[in-house]
Amino acid sequence: MRIAVARETREGEQRVAMVPELVGKLTALGHEVVVEAGAGRGALIADDDYAEAGAGVADDPYFDADLVVSVQPLARDIARRLAVGAVTVSFLPTTVETDLVRDLRDLSVTSLAMELVPRISRAQSMDALSSQALVAGYRSAIVAAGLLRRFFPLNMTAAGTVPPAEIVVLGAGVAGLQAIATAKRLGAVVKAYDVRAAAAEEIRSVGAQSIELDLPTLEGSGGYAREAGEERAALQRELLAPHIAAADGLITTAAVPGRPAPRLVTAGMVEAMRPGSVVVDLAAETGGNVEGSVPGEVVRIGHAQVWGGRNVPSQMPAPASKLYAQNVVNLVTLISAEGALRLDFDDEIVAGACVTHGGAILHEPTRQLIE
Ligand code: NAD
Repeated sequence: MRIAVARETREGEQRVAMVPELVGKLTALGHEVVVEAGAGRGALIADDDYAEAGAGVADDPYFDADLVVSVQPLARDIARRLAVGAVTVSFLPTTVETDLVRDLRDLSVTSLAMELVPRISRAQSMDALSSQALVAGYRSAIVAAGLLRRFFPLNMTAAGTVPPAEIVVLGAGVAGLQAIATAKRLGAVVKAYDVRAAAAEEIRSVGAQSIELDLPTLEGSGGYAREAGEERAALQRELLAPHIAAADGLITTAAVPGRPAPRLVTAGMVEAMRPGSVVVDLAAETGGNVEGSVPGEVVRIGHAQVWGGRNVPSQMPAPASKLYAQNVVNLVTLISAEGALRLDFDDEIVAGACVTHGGAILHEPTRQLIE
């Protein structure tokens, strides 16, 4: 089939859904790859690099594409140029993209949403939520280290000893564990907390101290957390407050699927931090783990600088694109055979990821929201 690689159009998006070194994987499957001119620019990839890897480069690769791959959802005017039966593969947050989902349904375009790929073992290589969370987690620790005007590591010198920075990480899923591991590698002393029971061991396995609170754990389905009631949330804030006040840096990464980010830290808790402290809120875009954080900005709360994340994976576009492209290649491998599209809706990965197909919305929560 003919696979088009879209140039991202959303403001600030620097990633691209395919990288030259993986084009050969698609052509080896019998597919033709056509990259929209300039698609790789944000990730510092030239059109010539794609051409050398065996891809075509075109100003409009859409009208005869069988499959379009992108990171962000396609712009609506691009979607309208797709042929009936074409397939899109991208992130597609359906609760936000309701107009686009309606268009895709009405155009009889099949859309697969990367964030809906089930998080089962067989789909791990297609798990773009994890690959992008890994990038965001790494970046959050680097940002904290950059903002903090002191060392992360212990320094013992002839001129005296400088103690290491103390970093607290809240939320120890994919991003949080990567933030912990990165802060540890930089030499900080790291403590972390997560509501899931399994997280304590994972926190220790990457070298941090697990903060133990006298609170029930919150297991949801599929290995995720469940939302806390207001009483438990308030108690958690109270118990975490002294740990946060004693830290030089705080990194928050907590999320609950389908819900706004849990409010883990009040402005008052940040105000209790020492002068020069830094806070990195990876959840700023989804409501914020930290009261007062602003996506894409550094604000001052009390004596602390508070950095709000905004499309954080896109801030490291080259590795984020490469990992995402690998996820895409693995999904395309699953949905094609002998160079042609082969969508098997009996496969739980295909069925789980599909939002629209054949003029209908197949993803039930989205159908209920929209129809
Ligand atoms: P996520 O982005 O939904 O949440 C991030 C973290 O925030 C989670 O660890 C969650 O427990 C935590 N959290 C939620 N509410 C909190 C609160 N009030 N206080 C503190 N922490 C809170 O999750 P994620 O990182 O995408 O993944 C979470 C889990 O799923 C992990 O155990 C991960 O290993 C697992 N996972 C499994 C697979 C797979 O099997 N294929 C793939 C990816 C992730």
